Amino acid sequence: RLIREAISRGAHAHPIVSPTSWKSGPSRHYDAMVVGAGFAGAVMAERLAADGGRKVLLVDRRPHVGGNAYDELDDAGVLIHRYGPHIFHTNSQEIFDYLSRFTRWRPYEHRVLAAVDDLLVPMPINRTTLNLLYGLDLATEEDAAAFLAAQAEPVSVVRTSEDVVISAVGRELYEKFFQGYTRKQWGLDPSELDKAVTSRVPTRTSKDDRYFTDRFQAMPLEGYTRMFERMLDHPNIDILLGVDYCEARDAYPHDHLVFTGPIDEYFGYRYGKLPYRSLRFRHVSLDVDRYQPVAVVNYPSPDVPHTRITEYKHLTGQQVPGTSITYEFPAAEGDPYYPIPRPENQQLFKRYEALAMAQTDVTFVGRLATYRYYNMDQVVGQALATYRRMTKTPAIRTVP
Ligand code: FAD
Ligand code: UDP
Repeated sequence: RLIREAISRGAHAHPIVSPTSWKSGPSRHYDAMVVGAGFAGAVMAERLAADGGRKVLLVDRRPHVGGNAYDELDDAGVLIHRYGPHIFHTNSQEIFDYLSRFTRWRPYEHRVLAAVDDLLVPMPINRTTLNLLYGLDLATEEDAAAFLAAQAEPVSVVRTSEDVVISAVGRELYEKFFQGYTRKQWGLDPSELDKAVTSRVPTRTSKDDRYFTDRFQAMPLEGYTRMFERMLDHPNIDILLGVDYCEARDAYPHDHLVFTGPIDEYFGYRYGKLPYRSLRFRHVSLDVDRYQPVAVVNYPSPDVPHTRITEYKHLTGQQVPGTSITYEFPAAEGDPYYPIPRPENQQLFKRYEALAMAQTDVTFVGRLATYRYYNMDQVVGQALATYRRMTKTPAIRTVP
């Protein structure tokens, strides 16, 4: 209900400078232009405006704030995530407190099932997964640990995303749960990806079936978009939506630039394109109350093209007739969603980073600009730390 009320208050459409008229208005001077209204850009804009007292113009080429965390009510009245499911979790009291200034929370612990061997079993792999999959009765953590130890293959140096999993659970479970999913998600075999990618998903000997174990796990009570709107509702912040940086750059003079888009794009692809993985989403409304038992079901099988299906009512707790789900189809082309963690990409990023460091009047923040596979909380933490550093750098003349 809270979500519906927020939307009916007109919460989801407020280009402060409208995309159609922006060029005809008076050209103001800003202390800072912030490019990108996702977590990185919104936190930077909020801090610069509210803490630094600076006049900020926030620009995004999309027609809304929130970046990839943007959510909206669909025709069925379900709050869906246009760019795939976003579940908030963090261990940081500071980050949770900071965001809590702009939202109340709905407690939510994320649970994921994987469709494997015609079963739906807990993912991350835990003792229940093993018992269901193999018809076992592993009663204790020691039993599960012994079972996994017997499956695991020794790997002398754990370097890749294949090594991580093989050394923990062996080849059979690797192939069932990780290999197909990863090949679809990244267009690469796990052996070609940094160990950091599959290390995000642990293996458990307990029956804990939560996807995350962080101290704080919750969803913004009225959605992410509403939280962003509160964050950006400040007299020092103007927002320009539906406009690319390259168009806004000269129209609005500014002393400092904060850039949160893809770093290779900023430098005109001077050293070639940095690979980012994209996704295509299929949003579907169904005439049933519930589609699946948990918010996300993963599909590691190579026989279907999607990686996962999300059902939003689990995330929001909404009581509405019908339900809405999203299929995710990984793609090589399209909006950049994921930096691809592998050594050659990191090397190319380092060349762009060297260019970035030479620019004293531009600050690069966020998942695309610093080419890091960061969660939302990590981006918030990075932006807060970046702002703190800016305030201590005399070279940046726009910030006290
Ligand atoms: P973005 O949100 O990508 O924002 C960048 C913005 O910059 C975009 O709005 C873009 O339009 C704009 N922009 C770029 N270039 C230009 C330009 N030239 N001119 C104007 N505007 C420009 N994290 C979690 O913690 N939990 C999750 O469950 C989770 N799930 C995810 C699921 C998916 C499918 C994806 C893709 C990511 C997920 N994440 C999750 C990660 C999360 O989305 C990011 O950590 C976070 O949104 C990054 O914020 P950002 O501001 O760095 O980038
Ligand atoms: N992964 C997998 N099978 C799964 C879940 C994850 O192989 O069922 C691998 C895959 O490579 C994925 C990575 O682990 O990209 C990280 O998973 P996570 O759920 O953290 O991905 P995200 O939510 O960031 O897309």
